Amino acid sequence: MGAYVMGIDVGGTKIACGLFDEKKTLVAQRRCPSDPALPPEAFFDGLIREVHTLLDEQSLDLDALRGIGLGMPSFILFEQGHIVKTSNLVNIRDFPAKTYLTERLPGMPIVLDNDAHVAALAENRFGAGRGFKNMLYCPISTGIATGIIINGKLFRGTYGWAGETGHMIATPGEGLVCGCGNQGCFMSWCSGSMIIKHIQSWIAQGAKTLMTDLAGDAAKIDCFYLEMAYDRGDPLAQRALDQMARYLGLWFFNLYMTFNIDCFVLGGGLLKMGEKLLDPVRRIFDSYNRNEKPVYFKPAELEDRFGIIGAAELIFEDSL
Ligand SMILES: [Zn+2]
Repeated sequence: MGAYVMGIDVGGTKIACGLFDEKKTLVAQRRCPSDPALPPEAFFDGLIREVHTLLDEQSLDLDALRGIGLGMPSFILFEQGHIVKTSNLVNIRDFPAKTYLTERLPGMPIVLDNDAHVAALAENRFGAGRGFKNMLYCPISTGIATGIIINGKLFRGTYGWAGETGHMIATPGEGLVCGCGNQGCFMSWCSGSMIIKHIQSWIAQGAKTLMTDLAGDAAKIDCFYLEMAYDRGDPLAQRALDQMARYLGLWFFNLYMTFNIDCFVLGGGLLKMGEKLLDPVRRIFDSYNRNEKPVYFKPAELEDRFGIIGAAELIFEDSL
């Protein structure tokens, strides 16, 4: 068995591969765009080519690898490595990914896991959650989710999708229908993509906003224009941020009451909004929280490397 580990981070727009040595040092990496139009076989064939290319660049062959860890934005039956469905890559569904990869890379240990799980592992071992026995990693981005670390271990649940808490229902029978198929889940009220749908529905009902002027067209509004309009005092942007803070604060409180975990590590694109989003979220959380024990909200530290680091960690920890 080789000494190196490959960690692969698959996202809706890109695939990043990182090669780590036995001391867990990142020695080389590659990035390429991910093509959502590809069927799963062609998608994973491309991924294998990336593995070979990265090894070739380092004058290594497959024997140098101890294993390949893969983080995917997917519901995955963990034990089987079977992908149930994938957000942003809708063709990657109901696919035996681990079997497919193992047939093409015989003898290679391969571990697939959900991207929030992988990020939680990375931030707990090397990032903002270092030293915390219990931790929740919470990406706040186009979607919201959690990666759960309990007693230093990643908790996956029975099938593999523990932590899909963005799809807990907040308002039964009320609100927009989410990609999960249900109406009124937390994500439907406060994720980056869904808040834009709310804004567009308010505009369709006659609301006026600077966001339409800034984007040139209501259909082109995104979180960049939302933040810009908020900074200029636009009331509809304020309403949108209020709504996000209200549901995120409630979501965090419900997670806190479920797990009694004192460390939330926050990641994802919407964190760029910084205190204008996080201060009200924290105020709402504190307004529900009736005890004095400390609860930490910490920004993630590993920037865009958490995906490859956590994916490699799946192998490092799997073979302990
Ligand atoms: Zn949902």
